[in-house]
Amino acid sequence: MFKRAAVLAVSCGAMLVGCGTDPEAENQEIVSNLIEAGFPADDIMVVEDAVYVGRDAHVTLEASREMLQPGNESAEQYRTTNLVGTGVTKICINPTSSFNSYSRLSQGLDLAIANYNALGLRITFARGPTTGCTANIAAKTMSGTGGSAGFPSGGLPYGTINIGTGLQSYSVDVNEHVISHELGHCVGFRHSDYYNRSISCGSGGNEGSAGVGAILIPGTPSTATVGGSVMNSCFRSSETGEWTSSDITALNYLY
Ligand SMILES: [Zn+2]
Repeated sequence: MFKRAAVLAVSCGAMLVGCGTDPEAENQEIVSNLIEAGFPADDIMVVEDAVYVGRDAHVTLEASREMLQPGNESAEQYRTTNLVGTGVTKICINPTSSFNSYSRLSQGLDLAIANYNALGLRITFARGPTTGCTANIAAKTMSGTGGSAGFPSGGLPYGTINIGTGLQSYSVDVNEHVISHELGHCVGFRHSDYYNRSISCGSGGNEGSAGVGAILIPGTPSTATVGGSVMNSCFRSSETGEWTSSDITALNYLY
């Protein structure tokens, strides 16, 4: 997401990077797996002992290994190799007290959850703490006006979204958009304009992977457009927070 600040003061446990293992060796394997999977080296970032692609998507070691599994093709509205498995039905989003203290982030979360639940998918979202969860995602704050998340692994959604507290000065609709976007990464969406970030960001190139790791979602358009998807790389201050028709097509196809 746009302006993902380089400042990510994350703790070891919070980022699922193996505590007690050698993070440097682990990150080297993640980076080499990503390059093998087709991501260009200049799109891979290591920040605070965590590896990111596409500026905001955290990649775990497990996820990077799964990306090397064969049998995938590239094309237009995009998902990662890994998706949320059928054992997951109710995903609970658990905000921290810091998150809850920002009124527009908090309202944006409710609206983002409603966006997913309005579609009647096989996965539903609920605001935690609550019961009956088959997977959990922590909603945390970070500095800046962007967000960050990661990709599914082991059949589970990625376990954390980080939302910039600077978004408190944007509309609730923008907060709804950014949170829906980061949750989209957690369940396996890549950026709709990943092949040319300048479509939504005004500058920037290809996030990479013409091979494994960016898989066509049937029925979605062949080119990204400004405002064409919640999953575009960068957002505008005028975002409505609502799905576009191709977002709905993509979500219904996957889930
Ligand atoms: Zn993103």
